Amino acid sequence: MADTKGRIHSIETGGMVDGPGLRFVVFLQGCPLRCQYCHNPDTWKKSGGREMTSAEIVTEAGKYRTWMETSGGGITLTGGEPLFQPEFTLDIIRKAHEKGLHVALDTSGFAPAAKAQACLEEADLILLDIKAASPLLHKRVTGVESHPIRDNLEFLKRIGKPLWIRHVVVPGLTDEEKDLDALLELVKSIPSLEKLELLPFHKMGEDKWKEEGIPYSLTDTPVPAKEVMSDLRERFSREGIPL
Ligand code: SF4
Repeated sequence: MADTKGRIHSIETGGMVDGPGLRFVVFLQGCPLRCQYCHNPDTWKKSGGREMTSAEIVTEAGKYRTWMETSGGGITLTGGEPLFQPEFTLDIIRKAHEKGLHVALDTSGFAPAAKAQACLEEADLILLDIKAASPLLHKRVTGVESHPIRDNLEFLKRIGKPLWIRHVVVPGLTDEEKDLDALLELVKSIPSLEKLELLPFHKMGEDKWKEEGIPYSLTDTPVPAKEVMSDLRERFSREGIPL
């Protein structure tokens, strides 16, 4: 198979939060969204980062095969937005599969269906970051429309792809009752949902915004209290949602 070149921001080994087991986490460069709470704004520019080939990435990941396999882990492709480099992403997944490695794709789902679907079909697990279930709020939080994401989600439902939904709870932005109800309806509609991860907003990326010279709008937003997060999780759990 021909080797594809792409741009990556960085690689982390031994990740424990981006999919099952221990993960070899590849942060791809480039993202078309502008989430207000993004903690990786340094991944936005497609021209940033460094160039690697898909074969180089999979060879590097292969060095960690033992701990990936014994922990039930694998490779996680994240970013940035991996579907912003769909050919590169697809090639990494295929090459990883040739070596028998599990691949999770962590994505906002924002990409034209024609480009995204091969990647969504090929990956073993999709970690779909739903920024907001309502179209208006989605536009406000991310700067982009949500309909391409909905199209890709419908595709994932049709093919029964194992799915984790992730959602960041930002006080005063994504935690209104009507928006949480919309999220509940959305996750209830996914038969192949394995897990919902409700993630508390944090400001660890704020310094990066300053370094990039981009105004950060959430300086005065508090992080959600632990009790608020556990109440929320209980509320979804009572509705039969796996957490
Ligand atoms: S999709 Fe991810 S990388 Fe892109 S802006 Fe949103 S949080 Fe940041």
